[in-house]
Amino acid sequence: MAGPVLELDCLRVDYDTVCAVHDLSLQLLPGDVYGLVGPNGAGKTTTLRATAGLLEPTYGRVRIRGFDLHRQPHEAKRLIGFTPDHSPAYNDLTVWEYLDLYASAYELPRERRGPRISECIAMAWLQEKHDALVGGLSRGMKQRLMLARTLLHDPPVMLLDEPASGLDPLGRRELRDLLVRLREAGKAILISSHILSEMSAFCTKMGVMERGRLVKQGTVADLAGLLPKAQKVFVRTAKPGWGETPSSLPVVGGVPRAEARQSLAPPSEDGTRLEDLLRAESHVIGIEPRDGAVVFDWTGSDAEAAELLRRLVNAGVAIIEFRPHAVDMEEIFLRTGVKELS
Ligand code: ATP
Repeated sequence: MAGPVLELDCLRVDYDTVCAVHDLSLQLLPGDVYGLVGPNGAGKTTTLRATAGLLEPTYGRVRIRGFDLHRQPHEAKRLIGFTPDHSPAYNDLTVWEYLDLYASAYELPRERRGPRISECIAMAWLQEKHDALVGGLSRGMKQRLMLARTLLHDPPVMLLDEPASGLDPLGRRELRDLLVRLREAGKAILISSHILSEMSAFCTKMGVMERGRLVKQGTVADLAGLLPKAQKVFVRTAKPGWGETPSSLPVVGGVPRAEARQSLAPPSEDGTRLEDLLRAESHVIGIEPRDGAVVFDWTGSDAEAAELLRRLVNAGVAIIEFRPHAVDMEEIFLRTGVKELS
């Protein structure tokens, strides 16, 4: 089996009095997509910049395919592609000229440059902006350009700092598809993001950073395993209950705060009936409105859930949807102690 392609060993980075990254260790194998998440100021960008060789760590090691970034910077840096979270500076160049400049800096053979730039422009969905000036690109388009630049020399290790920021929903989906393709091609990708729910779609591993420390890491399934052993169930009735503003509804212990509920449209008859029946169930822990429907934690077995459904229907609740509800990453992190995720 191939060894790690990227290793961070006890990495520490200080800025004057601030310790931005504290003894952080992680390893990526080819085909690993490692999602680094955490609140503002957790140290994600600093970790990525130190891994890219743009910041000198206070101590600790970065190895790329076994090359020590400090001792063998030339060999190590050739294997890295880095997408920073800020825009490119060369505003007077066209997209093509900008990429050509970097292709030559990466020492791509002259005859390979044109075809490779075209490939990268296509992979980053920038075909229409081929001859546009960099300075005139929107934020999302600049983000795509940075991604195209990162792909140019086909590096085995990619470091992406908030690559989805500035992308519209279609752009995010395209990015996700591209990351899946890169993962399948065996790239090792370290990616930071605030968009937790989307990370679980393509990450093979996740790490949660808080105040410079990696406080949790593992596969998405490992992190999901940190949750209480209850599964979530999603129920929608023909006439939904309160839920017109579900995402803004404050919840205490799984139950919406009374004052918030009063400010919403009253629940339908079905909604009230469903809630009353669920509250009487011993295997139901928390009940939350979600997208016009209801989600609750269920501690019983699947057979008991089938019985519950039968009871609800027999009690006259017009149920049109009753299914397991996938736990998203945001929920995992919020419930496992990381408080300030944005
Ligand atoms: P965000 O999600 O807001 O981008 P982050 O997780 O990427 O945050 P960093 O930008 O790595 O966090 O910052 C980590 C810590 O280091 C913060 O406390 C920040 O204030 C501090 N910091 C970052 N850059 C510098 C700098 N150039 N000089 C001094 N302190 C810095």
